[in-house]
Amino acid sequence: MPDVSTEAARRRTFAIISHPDAGKTTLTEKLLLFGGAIQMAGSVKSRKTARHATSDWMALEKERGISVTSSVMQFPYAGRIINLLDTPGHADFGEDTYRVLTAVDSALMVIDVAKGVEERTIKLMEVCRMRDTPIMTFINKLDREGKDPIELLDEVERVLGIQCAPVTWPIGMGQRLKGVVHLLTGEVHLYEPGRNFTRQDSTIFPSLDAPGLEEKVGSQMLAGVRDELELVQGASHPFDKQAYLDGRQTPVFFGSGVNNFGVQPLLDFFVEHAPSPRPRATTSREVRPEEEKLTGFVFKIQANMDPQHRDRVAFMRVCSGRFSAGMKAFHVRSGKEVKLTNALTFMASDREIAAEAWPGDVIGIHNHGTISIGDTFTEGEQLSFTGIPNFAPELFRRARLRDPLKLKQLQKGLAQLSEEGATQFFRPLMSNDLVLGAVGVLQFDVVAYRLKAEYGVDAIFEPVQVATARWVKCDDEKTLEEFRDKHAMNLAIDAAGELVYLAPTRVNLQLAEERSPAIRFLATREHA
Ligand code: GDP
Repeated sequence: MPDVSTEAARRRTFAIISHPDAGKTTLTEKLLLFGGAIQMAGSVKSRKTARHATSDWMALEKERGISVTSSVMQFPYAGRIINLLDTPGHADFGEDTYRVLTAVDSALMVIDVAKGVEERTIKLMEVCRMRDTPIMTFINKLDREGKDPIELLDEVERVLGIQCAPVTWPIGMGQRLKGVVHLLTGEVHLYEPGRNFTRQDSTIFPSLDAPGLEEKVGSQMLAGVRDELELVQGASHPFDKQAYLDGRQTPVFFGSGVNNFGVQPLLDFFVEHAPSPRPRATTSREVRPEEEKLTGFVFKIQANMDPQHRDRVAFMRVCSGRFSAGMKAFHVRSGKEVKLTNALTFMASDREIAAEAWPGDVIGIHNHGTISIGDTFTEGEQLSFTGIPNFAPELFRRARLRDPLKLKQLQKGLAQLSEEGATQFFRPLMSNDLVLGAVGVLQFDVVAYRLKAEYGVDAIFEPVQVATARWVKCDDEKTLEEFRDKHAMNLAIDAAGELVYLAPTRVNLQLAEERSPAIRFLATREHA
């Protein structure tokens, strides 16, 4: 009978972060290949296609070449269970990415060797920083000419403010790429283009001095890399596990995702050193993964994954204990017991019914809108996981219907889509407007598209005089009541029933704040 601490200890739950086009999808595919989850390269593409087939709003994702939603892939490797949480790539979906990063224990950063540290990488790194998430780095596309590896490490250290500890080092680059040296084991992994499509392909020499290596690599190349390594080892930091776990140092690997090269050393190192689930903060105490009782929190909601069944799936990260199919759990926010039947697991590309799940795993819970992002489940204890914020949107539009008879569907659609967290839905106290807020302009297109595809509603989004939003809070009921009466014109209710101040201008907000010092105006709403 498996026990919680053993199962928790073998979980590795992480996300890949990168600037679009750095190679995240390709690397994901190779990792799945190593995990035996897929047989041949190319399968992730077909996974994408299959998803388009079952959920046609994803056609938009395809048209735009972006990944709108995140998914979860689980696969076994070297006695461990890996949970890879996909993050959406487009900048407009930062909030969604943020929440995925609250559900992982570590991250893998992919950098294009030619482009170096890009703008989106910087942003994602900031998010990881806020939580001290341990990060490994994969420098990708070594089969192409790129920046000098030493300069690249320097760039990472300078721009991202994190120490680099190279674990593998490239021998050559582009046309001259010969392999990588593993700085900790001394092994040399040869690069053999065209051969690296399955996991057994790589030829490994025990060291740079091994007989036969010189013939393969060339004496000049070998001498060059020896010199370079001396320089690197003098100038860079040796791997320090604690510094990595604290988020101060990133182990760095070089390779080529598309050629499946340099991926295995990364994966082997990852399963050994990346953290298993760690204790997590709640409103009342710290929850340790090895505790017997189930706890978890919802970090993502996805509606209509299957248009035939108009339900929603809440993605819950298990934080402690054991989940077993059909068990009852306590939904802390509503105070109700919920039977978790038909929960999904995410073995590789297929969704399956979960028999059990352990700390670090993600399960998908079907529901009809009763579960929200940030919700905590326990076996009865009153506690809530903290740190999953909702950000105030910065862009606002009023929804207008082409067919006024569809108002009910529009309201329902907007409410449901905003539960997924990418957009927020507001109903002003004093008008019948339906106002949608987003952090990126592309989200309005996504919502319009999905309203039509999934709810049969033809809506357009037009400008509205709202500059910013703040959740308003006050400990004193009476003061809040007065504020509400006085500012009803600018107040609205969000999808969760919370009071929100919609400021027509920034100046207006500032004045309102000055005139009502007893009221707190919050730019984030922490899901409680
Ligand atoms: P994502 O946007 O980060 O998911 O990036 P993709 O995995 O979709 O890759 C972007 C492009 O880079 C695709 O055309 C890939 O084929 C290409 N690519 C990925 N890895 C490599 C690599 O190691 N070498 C080369 N030359 N191209 C790569």
